Amino acid sequence: MTTPVRLLIHGASGRMGQALLRLATERPGLQVVAAVQRKVDQRVLDGVPHFASSELAAAPAFDVAIDFSLPEAFDPVLALCAERGSAFVSGTTGLSGAQREALETASARIPLLWASNFSLGVAILDELVERAAAALPGWDCDIVESHHTRKKDAPSGTALSLGAAAERNGATPRYASIRAGDIVGEHLVQFSGAGERIELVHRATNRDIFARGALHAAARLAGRPPGAYRLRDVL
Ligand code: NAD
Repeated sequence: MTTPVRLLIHGASGRMGQALLRLATERPGLQVVAAVQRKVDQRVLDGVPHFASSELAAAPAFDVAIDFSLPEAFDPVLALCAERGSAFVSGTTGLSGAQREALETASARIPLLWASNFSLGVAILDELVERAAAALPGWDCDIVESHHTRKKDAPSGTALSLGAAAERNGATPRYASIRAGDIVGEHLVQFSGAGERIELVHRATNRDIFARGALHAAARLAGRPPGAYRLRDVL
């Protein structure tokens, strides 16, 4: 039997953290050794050691940290991974320019993967947007994203990544955000020309897709050489 990949889940009590803990136990080859959240006021999963963020340094040895938290919680967990030589997978959105630079710096020491969206569908949508933007010079490009009312950042990290893909291929995207109900995540990328329009849409109906993608990335990243990996590198 091969040794399991030891995981630290950061942001464990959140919507994504809870999905990650539940699904990690179903996936062979992964073992959660630490669940970290702001305060240990609720234990998410029995049998998993829980830590408050103030106790992060006391976490046991781990191979990969998976972080789905908030920008204000991000720096210490990245620093811990760099210090210990552990891999880092993060889906936290709304990061500052300095935090993006910290990722770049850390990638010289550890393997890491940050993605605004861990679903397979959005990875494909990204490719479709690149193709459409390159093939439709001069068309208007509009990105409309919809999420639940408790989402803090806008436009979403995914909308900005899709916009960057369009921009790299000559389009000038505009953004609109909708915050309503319990929408898990929807992204519409619309290309409009004279007398015609293309609409590319992705709808997430369950956040397990993001958690599964992040667990898959963690399993694939453990033991790789240092570097900044993209989701398509580990699919
Ligand atoms: P949430 O608010 O439900 O959970 C946030 C978690 O962060 C909680 O466990 C909380 O305890 C922890 N936290 C907050 N402040 C902290 C601090 N100062 N120190 C330590 N921990 C702290 O949020 P969520 O819906 O689970 O989303 C988390 C992040 O993941 C958001 O940035 C969201 O945009 C992003 N997200 C990304 C993807 C993707 O595929 N990349 C998918 C869904 C959500």
